[in-house]
Amino acid sequence: MMNTWIVNIGNELLNGHTVNTNAAYLSEQLHKLGFDVSKIVCIKDKPEDITNILNEATHQCSLIIISGGLGPTLDDLTRKSLSEFFHRPLIFHEDLWNEIQQKFSFRKMKAPEINKVQAYMPQSAMIFKNTIGTAAGFAIIDKQCCTISLPGVPFELKHIFEQEVKPFLRAYFKQLNPLQVNTLLFSLITESELAEKLSAFEEELSKHNVKTAFLPQPGLIKVKFYQQHNSEEVELVNKIKQFAKTYLSDFLIFDEDVSLPEILHNMMITKNDSLCTAESCTGGYLANQIISTPGSSKYFKGSIIAYSNEIKQNILQVPAELIKQHGAVSRQVVECMARNALNILNADIAIATSGIAGPDGATESKPVGTTWIAIARKKYMWAEQFIFGNDRFSNIQRTSNTALAKLILLLNNKAL
Ligand code: ATP
Ligand code: MG
Repeated sequence: MMNTWIVNIGNELLNGHTVNTNAAYLSEQLHKLGFDVSKIVCIKDKPEDITNILNEATHQCSLIIISGGLGPTLDDLTRKSLSEFFHRPLIFHEDLWNEIQQKFSFRKMKAPEINKVQAYMPQSAMIFKNTIGTAAGFAIIDKQCCTISLPGVPFELKHIFEQEVKPFLRAYFKQLNPLQVNTLLFSLITESELAEKLSAFEEELSKHNVKTAFLPQPGLIKVKFYQQHNSEEVELVNKIKQFAKTYLSDFLIFDEDVSLPEILHNMMITKNDSLCTAESCTGGYLANQIISTPGSSKYFKGSIIAYSNEIKQNILQVPAELIKQHGAVSRQVVECMARNALNILNADIAIATSGIAGPDGATESKPVGTTWIAIARKKYMWAEQFIFGNDRFSNIQRTSNTALAKLILLLNNKAL
């Protein structure tokens, strides 16, 4: 496989001001294309650091991908450093300058002179146009290595990579053997329980060199299988998928890497039902997840954020007596919230949440993380207690993801 390094340039990446998301994006993309990413390096906007890393990398890699430092300001030094390292003078490109000027005039502005440096490219570099920003990317093929430099702004980098770099890499590195990635999404099961249930396949997976990754997120576990396009390997992964569909149907949400709101979206559209939420501990986070999918207005009615007992009583019409007797975090209250939301918000399905997100609010019988989730329909009620962890935001995410996952499973298994 092609040895590849990713080099992320930017002082802000080293002082914690910016999270290096470009590294995660690039490594995932390159891995899928069949490159072996063996190192990710993060360095300052400092010419000698850039030169040093290039010196090391060009001796070992077939491909180097650099991000950052292509901007017009004094702290953007990547273009100049690459030009000097490869002894390729910077050449002015009239067409790039025209395009930069057009981008400014479209916004009724005059292009500042300092942006002109972005129209200079190392001699005989292959240029990757940036249709959504001013910093174009480029590739230099030299020293038996292909060095690609891309802008640091994450959405510009993604856009150029998708539109320009991917087709270039496929054409230039003809012998690439792209990996096939299969994903299974699970919920309502712990990572170790799931690993146990899939352990029967361990030997076969390693014999066929299919790599497996368990990727837990709050309330959700992604299991990924990476394989070559080899028929035995494809068959093995299909066999595991079939096993999960048959024996793990209480936990298997989907067999592709799609977000929970998107999976739910397609089901709700097909079913033509409406949905609402009554949220205490998630404070609207669940509704926010649901409306993240364009077109969710076709089925999502709305939410009542009943964070205080006062709103639970006055708006959701939960009897004060019920809260007093069982506590706000209880089966009785969460079921009542869901049932009443159905009528008040005039929906076919309601989800209700009530829990102790933490760090305060625990009682002797209810530790931080204690959460009740209910899903109701006119003649149907499901409610269950979960004891999540100590971290507040993670508890909110887990509650929301678990509720979405359970609704998907109920719809999947035709219980609703
Ligand atoms: P620009 O033309 O915007 O100056 P540039 O190539 O010079 O492009 P940078 O100045 O390095 O890019 O970064 C621009 C923005 O992108 C900054 O807000 C920076 O924090 C962000 N950024 C840079 N590198 C990364 C990275 N590896 N991951 C996430 N964000 C990044
Ligand atoms: Mg910059």
